[in-house]
Amino acid sequence: MTDLHRLSIRELSEGLKQAQFSSRELTEHYLKRIAHIDPKVKSYVTVTAEQALAEADAADAALKAGNAHALAGIPLAHKDIFCTQGIKTTAGSKILDNFISPYDATVVAKAKAAGLVTLGKVNMDEFAMGSTSENSYFGATSNPWALDRVPGGSSGGSAAAVAADLAPIATGTDTGGSIRQPASFCGLTGLKPTYGRVSRFGMIAYASSLDQGGPMARSAADCAYLMNVIAGHDSKDSTSVNKDVDDYVAKLNGTAVKGLRIGIPKQYFNVAGLDADVKARVEESLKKLEEMGAILVEIDLNMTEAYVPTYYLIAPAEASSNLSRYDGVRYGYRCDNPKDILDLYKRSRSEGFGAEVQRRILIGTYALSAGYYDAYYVKAQKVRRLIQQDFLKAFENVDVIAAPSAPTTAYKIGANLSPNEMYLGDIYTLAVNLAGLPAINAPVGFDKDSLPVGLQLIGNYWSESQLLSIVHQYQQNTDWHTKRAAIAEENV
Ligand code: GLN
Repeated sequence: MTDLHRLSIRELSEGLKQAQFSSRELTEHYLKRIAHIDPKVKSYVTVTAEQALAEADAADAALKAGNAHALAGIPLAHKDIFCTQGIKTTAGSKILDNFISPYDATVVAKAKAAGLVTLGKVNMDEFAMGSTSENSYFGATSNPWALDRVPGGSSGGSAAAVAADLAPIATGTDTGGSIRQPASFCGLTGLKPTYGRVSRFGMIAYASSLDQGGPMARSAADCAYLMNVIAGHDSKDSTSVNKDVDDYVAKLNGTAVKGLRIGIPKQYFNVAGLDADVKARVEESLKKLEEMGAILVEIDLNMTEAYVPTYYLIAPAEASSNLSRYDGVRYGYRCDNPKDILDLYKRSRSEGFGAEVQRRILIGTYALSAGYYDAYYVKAQKVRRLIQQDFLKAFENVDVIAAPSAPTTAYKIGANLSPNEMYLGDIYTLAVNLAGLPAINAPVGFDKDSLPVGLQLIGNYWSESQLLSIVHQYQQNTDWHTKRAAIAEENV
């Protein structure tokens, strides 16, 4: 079979159960595609072929015995920020280039327990800091829709792998947009869950109060299958919330679009730098939802201007603390011939961290230093609370909030935007993390250069199943999510 990579997760699951194909065949199919196509896309940092085939055989045995989980035998790729026992976990950094984790992240352990087959680890911006995946020590990943463009970031490898059909689903993480923006740039569906819904145990920390893992796939339905596996309380993550998990698949049609109140923030559609095509496609998608019965309501989100400065203080502050553990002593990169302990710290960190990571450690350390703590860090925390309250007020009147996921489509590789220009591209995604809310990206068409555009829907706390359901129904009425890049159409 040459077209196994065109099947949805539901079709893959049924095909495996009915023995139309085996997990070994499916896994070999994806490994072959990776071998032929990934040299052009460069989405994988590590391919775990041998282990994948062993996992596939185990899944086939379980399928034969009739005691397999719904997703047993289906391949996936993990962002290289999730610790994988016995397999290199780099977080896109030179400082972890030699790091082999002694344990699995909870997300990875859950995927294994569900019988999913790990194809490998995919590229990302170093420590998830960035919006292009170019900040990876391992080099840039290409956008399958245009190989001279970035796939977005930081989960750019996850997005590129799925968009090129080099994995049917992938995990990502989102601290300030890193699931939604690459999903937008690559024409995929990606869900950032409520803070606390998916365990952060074994997910290398960037900014712990903002980080959250989630699924990336072609459709909301495919994301729902992966959410069913990875969501839930974990006693190993003290911020994970002990609250019942929905059956996201069963609830795909559970939210009525008829009468659904969608808030349209005035401020969001007047942002300087919002591309005209992006605006037009997002507005068309909202029209479509209106035709399906939704009610569009103009709302105010008055704190919009504060999003970028607030995030770019809090995230680096937390990063500067989290990244202090990489000291060249316990694990990771160590400089050659250190003169003394101070030299060892200094050179290991200067040589091991890339420029963007160093910039953020410096900014964060500054914001947390005694003389500036109140003026910067405490102030940012207060503004963060105001941003959250702005959303809570909005949700008194609407069910979900609509926005673009990003003001533009994918940038050219090497465009070399200044840090400030780059940070402004995060305007639509950061507030969701600051408030801890869930949000989803759905593909809604293309710009004049045939690059994908994404719609973002932001929900109230714990509304993941509602967001997936709305996008699922939109996808039943449209076909943007079925469009494939030319490179994904290649048969190998
Ligand atoms: N682009 C944002 C940043 O550079 C968000 C990254 C993320 O969500 N991990 O920090």
